[in-house]
Amino acid sequence: LKRIEETESKLNAYITVFEEKARKKAEILDEELTRLNEDEVPEFFGIPISIKDNINVEGVRMTCASKMLENFVSPYDATVVKRLRERGAIFVGKNNLDEFAMGSSTETSYFGPTKNPWDLERVPGGSSGGSAAAVSARSAIASLGSDTGGSIRQPAAFCGVVGLKPTYGRVSRYGLTAFASSLDQIGPITKNVEDATYLLNLISGQDSKDATSAKVPVPNFLEALNGEVKGLKAGLPKEYFIEGVDPEVKEAVLSAVKKLESLGVEIVEVSLPNTKYAVETYYIIAPAEASSNLGRFDGVRYTYRAKDYKDLIDMYKKTRAEGFGNEVKRRIMIGTYTLSAGYYDAYYLKAQKVRTLIYQGFQKAFEEVDFLITPVTPETAFKIGEKTDDPIKMYLSDIFTIAVNLAGLPAISIPCGFDSKNLPIGLQLIGKAFDEETILKVAHTVE
Ligand code: GLN
Repeated sequence: LKRIEETESKLNAYITVFEEKARKKAEILDEELTRLNEDEVPEFFGIPISIKDNINVEGVRMTCASKMLENFVSPYDATVVKRLRERGAIFVGKNNLDEFAMGSSTETSYFGPTKNPWDLERVPGGSSGGSAAAVSARSAIASLGSDTGGSIRQPAAFCGVVGLKPTYGRVSRYGLTAFASSLDQIGPITKNVEDATYLLNLISGQDSKDATSAKVPVPNFLEALNGEVKGLKAGLPKEYFIEGVDPEVKEAVLSAVKKLESLGVEIVEVSLPNTKYAVETYYIIAPAEASSNLGRFDGVRYTYRAKDYKDLIDMYKKTRAEGFGNEVKRRIMIGTYTLSAGYYDAYYLKAQKVRTLIYQGFQKAFEEVDFLITPVTPETAFKIGEKTDDPIKMYLSDIFTIAVNLAGLPAISIPCGFDSKNLPIGLQLIGKAFDEETILKVAHTVE
């Protein structure tokens, strides 16, 4: 809490801080500790953790960084939160994000932008920018974020921390405010790979409250960390090392590749030819799903409602016009358009087909290699305001992370050096579905 107080005026990484509640919980735990034997102390006992403000924590407000939910109080815990609570974690606050997790810079938040701790004039990335900035500035030991097209990995890269997007279905989405349900996944943002692994162990597993959570065994991921990387085969997808990637980013990533090679990892070039369609495909599918998911914010069931209106329809219209920011409106309009009769086949259905091709491209690469290595982003953290007037430019900052969500694969972003402006650079490792173990093991070896 002291660290939050020291850093918040500069960073704005939190929307809500639980001063009182966190202190009280710590006192209760202190007391409880006197009654516990050492081997009875749960894993997360007393560990202060922050949560992205699109994940429900019972009894405190969840805003999704939107005016629409400014005063909404969560009636229940998300499954991931419940599990942490049961193991004694202390929630210190809710982290800032792009409104409804739509963005790559945390600039679309109704509560103002978060700053990058490495350079306060730059963005921390997004949409989990508050989580990444908090962990980077040590105002949280760890945070849970969400990743729909890169929202855990890209801010982790920009802030020099670790971000893990698990396989789609690995972690329950119950209690995560849906943005694009077929892409969203909750995951940890941490200081190092070991912390991410502890969190993954805890949050993984089937949940009867989320029909898309997968019934697959959950290994003890910590055991993977000590494994050998020698003999593994890594693929460098040539489409991820193209022109347009900052040479300093490329160099840092390739030097991590060299290190792996010296440890006995075999490196081969692979091709993911449909990667070039990933951003376009995502910006059909994600807005389509978002336009449907956000239909619930109608002024009836959730907190914000316009003050002056003539009738019910007018109330809906004014509430949504006043409650949502521009980026959210843009997504709703695109999604409604691509789902409408006459355009559905040309856009939505076509995008679903391309999505399958992207998935198959990864499958083919994984016949040959155990995992893939790429940069997380083509460049390091950009200046605040630099891309706000140009949505396409903003969308392109997820060019290397988005295909992973379309294919449902696990991927981790770890720091791999700095550029000449002293800004962190991120390395992405992409694994086969439900094989988080390999990427964690490799990440732990090179971090
Ligand atoms: N930046 C992407 C978007 O704006 C991804 C966001 C996310 O992963 N939540 O949609």
